[in-house]
Amino acid sequence: MTFAVSEMDPFQHLLLPLMFLLAIRIDHRRAIIFAPLAVLPDFDALFDLHRALGHSFIPLLVMPMAILVYARFRRPEWLLSALIVQFYLASHVVLDMGGVAFLWPIISEQFYFEPAITFAVEGGFSLGFSLDYGMRELVDMGTTRFLSDAGAALVLLGVLMTAVFRREARDALSKAWTAVSETFLNILRRT
Ligand SMILES: [Zn+2]
Repeated sequence: MTFAVSEMDPFQHLLLPLMFLLAIRIDHRRAIIFAPLAVLPDFDALFDLHRALGHSFIPLLVMPMAILVYARFRRPEWLLSALIVQFYLASHVVLDMGGVAFLWPIISEQFYFEPAITFAVEGGFSLGFSLDYGMRELVDMGTTRFLSDAGAALVLLGVLMTAVFRREARDALSKAWTAVSETFLNILRRT
């Protein structure tokens, strides 16, 4: 039996970093509002450049870093938001380490890093760890499964956590909703 880092589905990309930020009790409102950014890179599949266009250092590192630097010097009030944005985008490529063309379009091969834990019971119990990494040609990863088994387990865990922390969840959701609607109203007012 092998547990390997395989392709993450959108729910894992959304929930894992969100749960992490909620767990370290960073600004709930911002954590929820920006969470969809963690899934954004996978929309490169629409352009037949899956794991390249949206998974490259340009949208995932250079662009958010530029926003961070801008916020640091010009808009200090944006700094926390900019950090959360960078965290979500970076989390995507970390969770996809099974294969991403991170240096696309400079290097079109994808880098992969695949740690795996192996269990064997036949011929005595044994536990092993293996690590495979390198570069390979960017291959079509096929259609991403919308919800994998691990993703389904995570959704279930998320539902259970929401039930356990329902007061916090309700609070965070209403705050997030207020913030989103205020933002939209402000945009509407300005136009
Ligand atoms: Zn991805």
